[in-house]
Amino acid sequence: MTNYLVVGSGLFGSTFAYEAAKRGNHVKVIEKRDHIAGNIYTKEIDGIQVHQYGAHIFHTSNKEIWEYINQFAEFNRYTNSPVANYKGEIYNLPFNMNTFNKLWGVATPAEAAAKIAEQRQVLGDKTPENLEEQAISLIGTDIYQKLIKGYTEKQWGQKATELPAFIIRRLPVRLTYDNNYFNDTYQGIPIGGYTQIIEKMLASDLIDVETGVDFFDKKQAYIDQYDKVIFTGMIDQFFDYQLGELEYRSLRFETEEMAVDNYQGNAVVNYTDAETPYTRVIEHKHFEFGKGDKNKTIVTKEYPANWSRGDEPYYPINNDKNNRLYKAYRDLASTEPKVVFGGRLGQYRYYDMHQVIHAALQVVKDELQ
Ligand SMILES: Cc1cc2nc3c(=O)[nH]c(=O)nc-3n(C[C@H](O)[C@H](O)[C@H](O)COP(=O)(O)OP(=O)(O)OC[C@H]3O[C@@H](n4cnc5c(N)ncnc54)[C@H](O)[C@@H]3O)c2cc1C
Repeated sequence: MTNYLVVGSGLFGSTFAYEAAKRGNHVKVIEKRDHIAGNIYTKEIDGIQVHQYGAHIFHTSNKEIWEYINQFAEFNRYTNSPVANYKGEIYNLPFNMNTFNKLWGVATPAEAAAKIAEQRQVLGDKTPENLEEQAISLIGTDIYQKLIKGYTEKQWGQKATELPAFIIRRLPVRLTYDNNYFNDTYQGIPIGGYTQIIEKMLASDLIDVETGVDFFDKKQAYIDQYDKVIFTGMIDQFFDYQLGELEYRSLRFETEEMAVDNYQGNAVVNYTDAETPYTRVIEHKHFEFGKGDKNKTIVTKEYPANWSRGDEPYYPINNDKNNRLYKAYRDLASTEPKVVFGGRLGQYRYYDMHQVIHAALQVVKDELQ
């Protein structure tokens, strides 16, 4: 039997804790926030599950991962079909025949493809050198101007001409009338929210959970006290930023209750102009059909923000410079045999939920089998 310390009660840490306890090991989970579940935390307010850290839609094509998550909750049939609002004009996402029809009046895939090809011509034979050129080369000028430029510049806090092309190496573009954002086989929202999943993962008598506790308050004592540490916080912070700081993007969420049944008619609306300061508006009740008070709705606006130490690091910025620095930290991590680094912050990678579970189960295999 091994005594594990898991730092962080998000999906990575909790999956590991669940599997370790199932095999008879003791697990202590510490979490610096005042609640468990990391960024997938949902809180029930007036019968509505509010996604406190941004809209979370579970999607995967991996049957094993789908079955794995379904042991902790039943999922509804939610299909992610966000719409874009550009100065009051509404377009379907991802870019598909509905978008092209609204924008250009075209009705067939051949007409849409011809329009995109015509608009790409502005680039000539040039290899795209920045995000603007890359977007135009993939989808043409109209969609770039109305649906990509403003949104992306707000999201990254930089001009599209200064952003690297790799950010949108691919764009979901469909020549079918299909508004389903994801190509995956399985998707949905857990009925009753995400927090219950983490509660079930951490329910074992062999798991002891403490919230409001920061690992860095007693870092060395923790490492000495436990046989093994699973660390899901920031890898650069673990090493006291000794090789330099990795960069992140942050977000600010503004949530308000409104005395209406239906504010925007969709769970997710993207604001793609440059002037609106937020990127997305989430209306939580639309994730769960027919739930909640008919006279009330809860809406969250998502504002992108620069990150500096102490802010929530929501998105790793995986450009060449940061990836090189992360690799140097990973090399340093091999000098810490008692510590396994995992999850979105420990592995400095933009993981979706299904990928986090997959990565955690890989560590389970390496560690416990
Ligand atoms: C805005 C947004 C929208 C997203 N939407 C989707 C989506 O639609 N679909 C999807 O599949 N994925 C989505 N994701 C990704 C999803 O949130 C992640 O895959 C998942 O939450 C990562 O789990 P994790 O355990 O690695 O990290 P986290 O959830 O961040 O958990 C890490 C935990 O460690 C804690 N911690 C950190 N440092 C310390 C410390 N020093 N001491 C103690 N505790 C510490 C943190 O407080 C946190 O609770 C989204 C992410 C964001 C930010």
